Amino acid sequence: MWLTAVKPKRMMIQTYQRDSNRKHPLLGLQHIVECVSVGPTEKRYYLCTLCKLTLATHMVIKHVLSFDHIYCYFKAWHPSTLLSKECYKDWDKALASMILDFAKQTEEILGTADIKQVNLEPAKFNSVNFTCYSEALKELESITKEKKESSLITSIKPGKKLERHTVSAAPLAFLYKLYCQDCNMIFKTTAQYFKHVSQGKHKEMLEKIFAKAERPDRCDQPVRTPSLGLYKYLKESFYQNQPAVVGVPLVVTCVSTQVHVEPIYICFACQNCFCEPILKQHFNSPKHLIRTLLYQNPWRLPFAWESLDLKVLKSEAWEEEKERGPNQMMLKVLDMPYWMFWSLIPSYPKVMASLELHHTFLKREVPRCETYSKLKENERFPLLGQQFLVIHDMVKQHQCPGVGFVCLLCKRRLSDEECHAHVFSREHVATFLMLVLCVCSTILLHSLHHSAAPPPHDTQHPAPSTQELDRLSNSGFTSSSAPYRQDEEKH
Ligand SMILES: [Zn+2]
Ligand SMILES: [Zn+2]
Ligand SMILES: [Zn+2]
Ligand SMILES: [Zn+2]
Repeated sequence: MWLTAVKPKRMMIQTYQRDSNRKHPLLGLQHIVECVSVGPTEKRYYLCTLCKLTLATHMVIKHVLSFDHIYCYFKAWHPSTLLSKECYKDWDKALASMILDFAKQTEEILGTADIKQVNLEPAKFNSVNFTCYSEALKELESITKEKKESSLITSIKPGKKLERHTVSAAPLAFLYKLYCQDCNMIFKTTAQYFKHVSQGKHKEMLEKIFAKAERPDRCDQPVRTPSLGLYKYLKESFYQNQPAVVGVPLVVTCVSTQVHVEPIYICFACQNCFCEPILKQHFNSPKHLIRTLLYQNPWRLPFAWESLDLKVLKSEAWEEEKERGPNQMMLKVLDMPYWMFWSLIPSYPKVMASLELHHTFLKREVPRCETYSKLKENERFPLLGQQFLVIHDMVKQHQCPGVGFVCLLCKRRLSDEECHAHVFSREHVATFLMLVLCVCSTILLHSLHHSAAPPPHDTQHPAPSTQELDRLSNSGFTSSSAPYRQDEEKH
């Protein structure tokens, strides 16, 4: 944990303090007393007057970096910065980064301190009982008094409460709230949400929404707090200053507080259903990113792209979500009775069918899909020849069954990375427009043929096959292709 970077066991704390590669701040060194036996064999022992402990040489660096010592330090010097110790039971990366942040701040305010040193004759050194803190301190204090040196105890002037500094462009506060889809209520913390679901009002609402005549009354059943993996994941990414998770407003977490079950997530952008173990995989997939942009504002996608930069797309998606404002940043939770939850088969069409009567609650507050809308000054985003893309089942050697993608227009297989963005790639758009030109010239030739026979033989632009023509006329591309429509009008 905190100590992973601590190097050799026998390194002196002073050497460690001066180490330019040192990654961890050393806090509260003014509370460390070093007793040295000056003689042919040098011996040392340490006291931490903050934690009221004695420490052998090999333990001192470890102690100064320990959570217990750091916690004592903040409690003394910056009271009310940290919550009660029990709140930090689970040491994780988020907590480590918070402590590091506070440590840097306190170093800026108080500067780094040096440890105190007491030199003792070997006989004196041996007479001190270092196994007992109070005895050792008493003994040492009397020695320093004799020598008229200052006290070994550092007096503490409690300073201000430290606030979390956040790095660069990251949002200033954790924005996500929890939303009860059943009751249309917002909660700031999971604790508040869990309290809400255990209350009568929420249970009554559940009864009302999912009324089922033959079901026995289960209102008195104890409430199981659902695991909200997505919420945890959002917090983790936020406190570790990782790139934002996008498309959260388009996902609904389905739970049942009557039983102990893992939630099922429904992503309206991907039209997908998934469970907890593949949560991160889903949110990190190029498909989710592209489908989220297509859903919220396709004009942020690069039309006719030649090389696709997913990092740029991710920041575009995050920009879009920030522009939409914090009101949309909600983790949507739909609670349902156990009988309903257990009937759900995690496949998008099946879940949507099972919850058919409850779509009002399921889709509550989910933003509307903008894939085919006119946004601001923009026309509809052209998704030309989308119907030439074919998804097929596929079993790769020694792998689980999956799906493959083929573009019938570009006449090739698509890789998993490109398939979701292929429809607005330069290659596909160009191929599509070429085909449109062919069709137009054929129609033109055809009309010429009727007015003045015989038609000129065109080897450069052979007419497309009927199959392709049929597909074109069935495709509805005219409705999604604004540029083409304008061309058509000119003819
Ligand atoms: Zn200590
Ligand atoms: Zn509720
Ligand atoms: Zn998704
Ligand atoms: Zn294509």
